[in-house]
Amino acid sequence: MNTSKNLDYFEKILSLEGEEARKLYDRADEVRRRYAGDKILLRGLVEFSNHCARYCYYCGLNTANASLERYRLTREEILESAARIAADNIKTIVLQSGEDPALDPAWLAEIIKEIKSRHNMAVTLSAGERPRADYGLWRRSGADRYLLKIETSDKKLYDSLHKGMSFENRLRCLQDIKDLGYEAGSGIMVGLPGQTLRNIAEDILFFKEWKFDMIGIGPFIPHEKTELAGKPAGGVEMVLKTLALTRIVMGRVNLPATTSLGSMDKDYRIEGLKAGANVLMPNYTPDKYKVLYEIYPNKRCISESAGTCAPCMASLAASIGRLVA
Ligand code: SF4
Repeated sequence: MNTSKNLDYFEKILSLEGEEARKLYDRADEVRRRYAGDKILLRGLVEFSNHCARYCYYCGLNTANASLERYRLTREEILESAARIAADNIKTIVLQSGEDPALDPAWLAEIIKEIKSRHNMAVTLSAGERPRADYGLWRRSGADRYLLKIETSDKKLYDSLHKGMSFENRLRCLQDIKDLGYEAGSGIMVGLPGQTLRNIAEDILFFKEWKFDMIGIGPFIPHEKTELAGKPAGGVEMVLKTLALTRIVMGRVNLPATTSLGSMDKDYRIEGLKAGANVLMPNYTPDKYKVLYEIYPNKRCISESAGTCAPCMASLAASIGRLVA
């Protein structure tokens, strides 16, 4: 099938409603079972800095939000979080931050080495756009994976949402990440103002062409302290259809039921897990900082203590007859 026919077909699938949409979720669930099995993978998330120099219009951490109290975790706080993740027998830590201009690549490299020497766990990084030299240093220090969401693969839409940023540089970063041998993760937001069904179809094709190992798909949720305050949020059905079609098209890929999917009018992570997702991300950011990592409002689980997340994930999984890995 040529590109245009593929996109037409994807658009048609994304337009399904009611019983037809439910059949799509069931099909994605079968594909997930075949390629990823019934076990749900857990990734322990540590949000180590909410400083950010960027101006993404949808994000509460963006540099223009002067009302947000900013924080940076110390080396010890990160290592304590890693120890809690290891104690819960979780095999991946995700170190995530805004694009913090004060982030010293050598400091983070030492922390990666320390985590790898103390624990049998994979290290995933998500610290935004960086020079290739930083990605290389962190990879040589033991980092296994890097997440950088494209948010939308449509350059025009991307430019309309990212003041002073470059779509080309985003792609350069993703290429560096792949070239350096990371398992590469990306993803999008569904329901962005100005986003069309065709855009989402193109995003799914983009995922396939780039052969990402992990893809985060979540709804756009407006934040009142951003440019997009008051815009309508993304719809849960469209998120689920995008998730399901991505699973069917990609086969073997890790798809989280994102925290944002759990932060809508109710927790839709269960629906996500039944429509192709196979990953959950319990939050191990120290309790006093969790509330300050407010990319979007009403984030799920920020008032729970970090230690209660893993058992909660296990019961979430058990409620649909699945187990955490
Ligand atoms: S999405 Fe990331 S880079 Fe953009 S403002 Fe938020 S934290 Fe910064």
